[in-house]
Amino acid sequence: MIFADLKLLSVLIYLASMLIVGCLPWAGVVNRGETGSLGTASRGLLLGGEHLAIRGEHFRFYRARDRRYGIPELTGLVQRVSETLEREFPGMVLLLGDLSGQGGGFISEHHSHRSGRDVDLAFFVTSPSGKSIHGWPLTQFDRFGAGLREETVCRFDSERNWMLVEALIADDESRVQWIFVSYGLKALLLEWALNHGRDIEIIRRAASILHQPGDSAPHDDHFHVRIYCPSGVGGARCKDLGPVWPWVEKGGGVNRWTPKDLLALALD
Ligand SMILES: [Zn+2]
Repeated sequence: MIFADLKLLSVLIYLASMLIVGCLPWAGVVNRGETGSLGTASRGLLLGGEHLAIRGEHFRFYRARDRRYGIPELTGLVQRVSETLEREFPGMVLLLGDLSGQGGGFISEHHSHRSGRDVDLAFFVTSPSGKSIHGWPLTQFDRFGAGLREETVCRFDSERNWMLVEALIADDESRVQWIFVSYGLKALLLEWALNHGRDIEIIRRAASILHQPGDSAPHDDHFHVRIYCPSGVGGARCKDLGPVWPWVEKGGGVNRWTPKDLLALALD
């Protein structure tokens, strides 16, 4: 009797732990020693992800919690983009929100961020007169670019925020699928880029990549960036959902595994 109870208890503990990490569908699918992004951004895992320090040369995390894991394509992108921006705006520090937790899977406050391919980035902010303000992450902005923080009015910094978008899209090592942001702020960004003669091809791509998602928050207080699965062996069991933009290399990169494919891989 005691033996049966212990067996039942161990099964329950196993199921609970699987649910906690959000990986029940992948139980038995992960191979020993495997690394990389597994599954989709909202139903997946991160095996052996890279860890970013809480503070880098030109970036820093705006929360102390350790959700700083990503595939190398994402952590590399964050570092390169912060360097690009610092060259443009000396002294600039890029403020980062969550990537994924160690091992990936469910983390609170997010639908996705589960497989090391998502990162939240703070907006750049100015005073009403245009002076740069540092360290105001998660300030909400309306469609006119006006924000309020502790009863102080501030502005969405269209110039720096556009330059951030441009650096993300122009990076050819990590192909960006989405930059989630509200429609109003997207319009401000595109308007700034057009008025300042920025590269028309980047603007065209930004018009697709900048997007207000229909199934989550409008993203009026931060950018959410998602990159495609890595190409080649590293992305073999990573699955992209949603559009494949025409400029994304055909063939080698974008992975669209079906559950049947995954099962076949698991049985290999
Ligand atoms: Zn996010």
